[in-house]
Amino acid sequence: MSLVSAIGLVREAREKNTAVFSFVCIDYNEVRSVINAAERTGKPAIAMLLPEYVDRFSLNGFGEFAAMVRFMAEHTDARIALHLDHSYDEAEVRWAIECGFTSVMFDASRDDLETNIRRTRAMVEYAHARGVAVESELGSIGLAKDRTAEQIDLFTKPETVELFCRETGVDSLAIAIGNAHGDYPLPPKLDLKRLDEIDAVTDTPLVLHGGSGIPEDQLVEAFRRGINKFNYGTDVKRAYTFAIRDYLAAHNPPQSLDVLGIPAAAQAAMTELIVRKLALSKM
Ligand SMILES: [Zn+2]
Repeated sequence: MSLVSAIGLVREAREKNTAVFSFVCIDYNEVRSVINAAERTGKPAIAMLLPEYVDRFSLNGFGEFAAMVRFMAEHTDARIALHLDHSYDEAEVRWAIECGFTSVMFDASRDDLETNIRRTRAMVEYAHARGVAVESELGSIGLAKDRTAEQIDLFTKPETVELFCRETGVDSLAIAIGNAHGDYPLPPKLDLKRLDEIDAVTDTPLVLHGGSGIPEDQLVEAFRRGINKFNYGTDVKRAYTFAIRDYLAAHNPPQSLDVLGIPAAAQAAMTELIVRKLALSKM
């Protein structure tokens, strides 16, 4: 089938009181694994590109990734969507839209609230005029390794959410409730009360980044309470890395053509992990 709309999946997840899973993919092996898992489970999935993984303003970057995912989506029965993850730059988002991304994340969360609203609103107007949906961020999700303790001051403030969503017209909102990117030094504890407070003031679907390492019982609760898109990356990267490590350990010393076995080994490990994790979604 054709690429499906990412925001369509997110809204469907909201109706079903669950979350659609979304994966940052660095290459063909990762996209292939996401689609394998979607085919095997019958659940939809979103493939995302993180701008720093490619040459941003080259067709070899955004354009090739978009074309690859589009082609792969057209040749599977699984429902696959394409999304640009964290972009901090208007020109880059415009270029991604030109290259065929049907939904994008524009992240001005590092600015003050007023600037974040102004820049996001302009980007939403631009994207909507081209039929493209926009995710944005309020609060600061940041990197898990930078966290020394629960930094409440970086969390999304419920009292700003209603204003932000109303003023920007954004399609979905990434929030900070104790989640962060990368490996957590200590097991995270989501602030579910804050999630309830945020969900109570907006109908905008909410997005949880930094999904790896969050205990599954907390994830199930978060999906039930208003998280409708779940970004899952680091665990998949670990499966990829360790699959290569184990493969090379089994082919030691490596011969020139041993590399030919790496894609299958890596895809098997990532697919298995994603299949297991997708069981948490009621999509
Ligand atoms: Zn993120």
